[in-house]
Amino acid sequence: MNSETKNQTPPKSQRVLNSTNSIIGDLLKLAGQADIISFAGGLPSPKSFPIKEVEKATQTVLEKEGALALQYSSTVGEKPLIDQIGKYINSKGVPAQADEIQIVSGSQQALDLLGMAYIDKGSLVAVESPSYLGAIQAFDLYEPKYIEIPTDEHGLNPDLIGPEFKNIRFAYVITTFQNPTGLTLSVERRKKLAEKAREYDFWIIDDNPYGELYYDQEPPPSMRLYAPERTISLGTFSKVLAPGFRLGYVVGPKEAIAPLTQLKQAVDLNTSTFTQLITAQIMEDGLMTTHLPAVREIYKTQCEYMLKAMDQYFPKEGVTWTKPDGGMFIWVTLPESINTDELMKEAVARKVAFVPGSAFYTVGKEKYNSMRLSFVTVPPAKIEEGIKTLGELLKEKLGQ
Ligand code: PMP
Repeated sequence: MNSETKNQTPPKSQRVLNSTNSIIGDLLKLAGQADIISFAGGLPSPKSFPIKEVEKATQTVLEKEGALALQYSSTVGEKPLIDQIGKYINSKGVPAQADEIQIVSGSQQALDLLGMAYIDKGSLVAVESPSYLGAIQAFDLYEPKYIEIPTDEHGLNPDLIGPEFKNIRFAYVITTFQNPTGLTLSVERRKKLAEKAREYDFWIIDDNPYGELYYDQEPPPSMRLYAPERTISLGTFSKVLAPGFRLGYVVGPKEAIAPLTQLKQAVDLNTSTFTQLITAQIMEDGLMTTHLPAVREIYKTQCEYMLKAMDQYFPKEGVTWTKPDGGMFIWVTLPESINTDELMKEAVARKVAFVPGSAFYTVGKEKYNSMRLSFVTVPPAKIEEGIKTLGELLKEKLGQ
């Protein structure tokens, strides 16, 4: 190494050196190429962004409280937004007091703060198997050991939670329209999970970015209803308003929220005052009731297109997939002979992309026969074309 390359950066921290770039990162970069039909993305549909409503609310905020909106603000969050979020959560039948809510810069920041506050090197953290890749990446920075919560075709299975969960720092779960499986936990399983959390004395983190994206029926309420004394829930405006706002919230017992507030102060002082006040105004204007039905319709229609194409073009033997009631993802399970890390390379060569299942596992990473498909941003004709190509590739591989 010559002195020039050596001095390209200050000496790197162990944290950076430990976080290796995965093969998946490289594959996803390929998937982003313009001529590829990508089912790999996790972006919400831009068709759902309420540009007019945002414009109107921005004008109102600037006229009414411009100086306040452009100023620094409290770490915990702006009162008008906290009040609106409290009202919204209460309307779902889940209690939430103002002092139980912390505003964050996207729920991804909440995951980081939770790791910072509640994980030491080697701490045991439970995650579903599979779980959200971004949460695993956020927690990884704090070097936990993972224990996987087994899942079946109905989501996580609380019956399989035993005494080995006694010493975990928390169980991170996505109970509604899960990322990556699209599955939703039934009320019975939610109650059982709450019972197990009490029996083995552990905390639950219930991450819920997709709950409002239901196609027909509203899903069951947050785990905060079933175990309020030991659940921290995460919400976000990314899927109901706009991810560019970078706005989310954490709800939990105030003692459990306080460390997050303390750490957030060091991390970014406060979440954008401007976006918080615009969002409070949009909520006051009735966004949740007027805008969301159209968003749900977009997601439902896109999902139907993909499921129909899969029925038509995917091989039938040994291949199964979830049929979500909401959200953005379909999870495909293939025969064990197929390694989707490998399959992805061939798919990309044929101009189709997905996320290989291994990205969503923490322990062992032995699950190579699955993939996540997102149907949200691809136009219907391209969904059919991409699924047909993928189906043909799978049929070749399986000799069907
Ligand atoms: N949790 C889950 C399960 C997600 O799928 C995502 C992103 N898609 C996030 C958290 C992060 O969302 P944001 O930071 O935009 O609120």
